[in-house]
Parts: sequence; structure tokens; C-alpha cells
Amino acid sequence: MSFEFFNDGTHRCVRFDDLAGEGEVQTNQTIIIHGERGVLLEPGGNKLFSRLVAEMSTYIPPQKLDYIILSHQDPDVGAGLNGYLLITDARICFPSIWLRFIPAFCTKSLAMERVISIPDEGMRLDLNGAELILLPAHFLHSSGNIHVYDVVSKTLFSSDLGAAMLPPDKHYVKVEDFDAHVQYMEGFHKRYIPSGKACRQWAAMVRQLDIERIVPQHGPMFEGKEMVARFIDWVSGLKCGLDYLAEGGAYRIPAA
Ligand code: FE
Repeated sequence: MSFEFFNDGTHRCVRFDDLAGEGEVQTNQTIIIHGERGVLLEPGGNKLFSRLVAEMSTYIPPQKLDYIILSHQDPDVGAGLNGYLLITDARICFPSIWLRFIPAFCTKSLAMERVISIPDEGMRLDLNGAELILLPAHFLHSSGNIHVYDVVSKTLFSSDLGAAMLPPDKHYVKVEDFDAHVQYMEGFHKRYIPSGKACRQWAAMVRQLDIERIVPQHGPMFEGKEMVARFIDWVSGLKCGLDYLAEGGAYRIPAA
């Protein structure tokens, strides 16, 4: 189902959240359109390609995509990239430390001259006159990870940070009750987000931005200043990943 969560007449943001098949990881794909041009965030895996192209085409022809942004190197983020290289002229934005991985999931000759290497410190992109800020979010969770802040809609796309795994009988696109929602984020963050130190430094950075909503790559979004503040507060106090590594003996050789 597509969900248009911002539209001021010139600038639109549309999220697609149910293109994965049953039993696969649920992922969110987003297009940001400014005037006639667009950007696709986190295109997703191979299986999504034809469905996403069909859904997206009701908003913008894929040929009008200027950029495709991958927040990190995971297969659910961009394993289907090759298809988009064939049908668009979009530039591919990818964290610099993962550039060498591109030939592993798409045709090198198609990709390399179209890649924008996102430096560790992040960068700004111009989308047909609208600004996107690519923020450093390394170790949240990938060691080369970026988040995207859309200045016009004041939306922060937070990659795997804020990801939630909802049970099969639950589906909501926005978090209405933060306390009730935490249970669906906790397990994921404890294991997939490596460090509370990274979380605290991220919170300090994003508190400087004017954010209306946070959209993770999995699960519902956090809408409105109050919900955004609750989420950032939660992240800033998070204990996760290495924080749980047992002192003096986390790793043991499995018994024979
Ligand atoms: Fe990931």
C-alpha cells in the first residue's frame, strides 16, 4: 500500500510498505518528488523490483529519478539495484566505505560512473531545487551508514534505527502509542544496533534539526514533534549491542 505522507503541491513524499512477500523482511521504500524530479530511498531487494516500479509509476516515471540512495550495504536495502540501473539514469548514492561492494550486486560497468560516493562526514544533495542532507549515522547499524534529512518536508529517514517488527496481526503506518510500540523495536535494537555510545551521539546530532517525522526502513513512522522527541529520547538512553557483551567471555567454542 502506498502512503503519501507529505504533499505541498510541489514536494511530495510517498512510502511503500508492503511489497515484500510473505515470510520476507518487511521494508519501507520511499520516493521524494520535487517538481518533475524524484529520488528513491532504499530500493530494496530483487523481488520488489517489478512491484515497486509499477507502484512508483503512478507517482513518477522511473526515468525521472535523479538519485537512488542506499543508506548501507544490506541486501534488503539495495540488492535489486541492477534493475534500476537499466531503466533509469539515476545517480546512485552509497556510503564510501561500501563502494567496493557494488560489483557484488550489480553490473559494475553500469554502476561505477553513476555512483556518488558519500563521504564519512555526509553531504548535501540538490533535488531539482530541494535540499537533502545525507547525515553520518555510522554504526547505526552498519559501519558505513547514512540517514537522509529532507529539508522541505522536515522528514528524517533513519535507515534501521527505529526499525520495528510488528506481529503479523498488527499493521499501522504511524506510531500512536509510543510506550506500546517499544516492545516491537526492543529486540531488533538490542541485537542489530551495535552501541549505545553511537545512539547518544546520533541523538545529539539530530536534536539540532527541525524534524516533523522520522521514517525508519522497517515498520511504522513517528509523526509529529512530540512523537519525534519521544523516539530521540528513547534512542539516547538505549542500551544495545556491545553494551550487552558479557565481560571477560562473550565468546565460547561450541561444545562437541
Ligand atoms: Fe540493515
